[in-house]
Amino acid sequence: METKYIFITGGVASSLGKGIISASLGKLLQARGYRITIQKFDPYINIDPGTLNPYEHGECYVTADGMETDLDLGHYERFTGIETTRDNSVTTGRIYLSVIERERRGDYLGKTIQVVPHITDEIKRRILLNATKSELDFVITEIGGTIGDIESQPFLEAIRQLRWELGPGRALNVHLTYVPYLAAAGELKTKPTQTSVKQLQGLGIQPEVLVLRTEHDLGDELRSKVAHFCNVDVQAVVQSQDLPSIYEVPLNMQRQGLDATILRKMGLPVGPMPELGPWRDFLDRRRRASRTVDIALVGKYDLQDAYKSILESLAHAGTYNNYKVRTHYVNSELITPDNVADLLGGMHGIVVCPGFGQRGIEGKIVAAHYGRTHDVPTFGICLGMQMMVIEFARNVLGLADANSREMDAETPHNVIDLMEEQKAVTQMGGTMRLGAYDCILRQGSRTAQAYGAGQTRERHRHRYEFNNRYLTDFEQAGMQCVGVNPGAQLVEIVELPAHRWYIGTQFHPEYSSTVLHPHPLFMSFIRACIPND
Ligand code: GLN
Repeated sequence: METKYIFITGGVASSLGKGIISASLGKLLQARGYRITIQKFDPYINIDPGTLNPYEHGECYVTADGMETDLDLGHYERFTGIETTRDNSVTTGRIYLSVIERERRGDYLGKTIQVVPHITDEIKRRILLNATKSELDFVITEIGGTIGDIESQPFLEAIRQLRWELGPGRALNVHLTYVPYLAAAGELKTKPTQTSVKQLQGLGIQPEVLVLRTEHDLGDELRSKVAHFCNVDVQAVVQSQDLPSIYEVPLNMQRQGLDATILRKMGLPVGPMPELGPWRDFLDRRRRASRTVDIALVGKYDLQDAYKSILESLAHAGTYNNYKVRTHYVNSELITPDNVADLLGGMHGIVVCPGFGQRGIEGKIVAAHYGRTHDVPTFGICLGMQMMVIEFARNVLGLADANSREMDAETPHNVIDLMEEQKAVTQMGGTMRLGAYDCILRQGSRTAQAYGAGQTRERHRHRYEFNNRYLTDFEQAGMQCVGVNPGAQLVEIVELPAHRWYIGTQFHPEYSSTVLHPHPLFMSFIRACIPND
C-alpha cells in the first residue's frame, strides 16, 4: 500500500495534548496491523531542545540513535513501542540549517532562497523522509505549536502543498481544538473552534477530522453544531474529555471511531475493531491497584513535564506490581542534613533525578546519603548516580572534598570527571554522549538479576562519567561497578549489594519503558519499595 499521511494540528490553545492524540492514533492504526511511524515538527529555531531549559519545554527526550528531541517522542514510544529516530523530530532550526548549508555549498547558485519554495520544499522532504527509509503504511506528523503562530506558517503551507500533490485519499488533517466551559453561563463554547477551523481553511487546509478537547461532555447537539459550521462530518467530530490516565485516551478514541473514520476517509477497509487486549489488561490492573507506594522525586525542576519519562516509567512499573505510585516532588535546593529526615522519612523509595549544573547538587547528595544510611531503596539516574558516587566517596572513602569536575573544576578528588572524548568539545549543542550504548552486566549483581540478562543497551545524555582511577577503592569499600561499557570501559551502573536496593545508572532507563514493556530496573525498584505488611 502507498504510504498515507496524517497531519495533526492544534488550535485555540497550546498544551491540549496533541502528542497524546497522535500517539493514540498511532496505537490504534498499529493495532489494525498497519506499519506506522509518528513524527514531530516543532516551529522553534533551536536545532533541537537539548539546549532548552526544562522549564521552557519540559524534559528533553533522547532517541536510541542519539537525537535530543521533544518529549512527545516519549509518548509515541511508550504508546506504540516503536523506536523513533533523529528523523522523527525536526525543528525550524534544522530545516533552515540544511537549506543554508546547501546555499553555502552553491547548490542554488544564482537563485534567491525563499521561505516558499525552499524552506517549504525542505519541510516536505523531511515529512516524506521516514517512508523512504522503511516501508510504512501511515506517517503521522504532529505540528508543534498552535495555528496562527507566525512560526507555524511554513509548516502549514508545506502541508497544504503536500495534500494537493499526494492527491485524494493519501493525506488527511486532524485538527485538535479546545471547547471552553464558561461556568458563569453554564455553557460550553464552540466559537473558538469555529474560528480556529476558519483560520485553517484560510490557509487552504480543510480538516477532515476534529478532536475537541473538553472538560465536560459535549453531547450530540454541540458536535453536530461544530460539524455544521466547519464542513466536517458529524462522526468525524470526536471529543477528548479529561480522563484519569493518558493511557485511556486510545480506548476513548477507539470508542468514538476515530481510527475507523480515518480509514474510511482514506478509502481503506475498516474491518473489525481491534481488541487491544494487553493494553486493556494494563488499564484494568492500573484501576484495580488500590495500595500505594510513596516515591520521592529529588530534583530541581518543580514542573511535572521536566521528569515526564521518569514519572511514566514509575507508573508503568507500579501498575505491573499492582501498586499505585504516588510521587512526591522534593526540591533538592531545599534539602539539608537537618530537614532530610522530615522530607524523606515517610517515603518507600527515593529517585535522585538527572540534571545539570551546581544548583541543587548538595541536596541530592544529602538525599543519596539518607537513602544509603537508612537503607531506603534509592535509584540514582545520570546526575543522580553521579551524586551517589560523590556521597560514597565523601562519607565512606573519606575523601571529604570529592566532587564532579562539572561542579568543581579544581577538586582534588574528581571521582566524576569529564569524559576523554568531551575534552575537545567547544560547542554545547548536540555534543554530549548521546543515544544507546552497550553495557555488560556483572553476573550475580542485583542489576543483572533485575534485567534477567548479562547485557543491555541503554540511552545516554551526559558529558561526565565515573573516574576509573577510583574504581578499586570503591569496589573494596562496597560500591560495585556492575555495569560497564565494553568498548570504552566506562562505568554505567553502580550498586550497593548489601542494601535493599541502592542502584545508580549513568544512562536513562526511563527513555525506554513502555506501557506493554515496563523497564526491568523500574520494575525491580518498585518491587523493592513495596512495604512488607
Ligand atoms: N550533568 C551530568 C553530566 O553531564 C549529568 C547529566 C544528566 O543527568 N543527564 O554528566
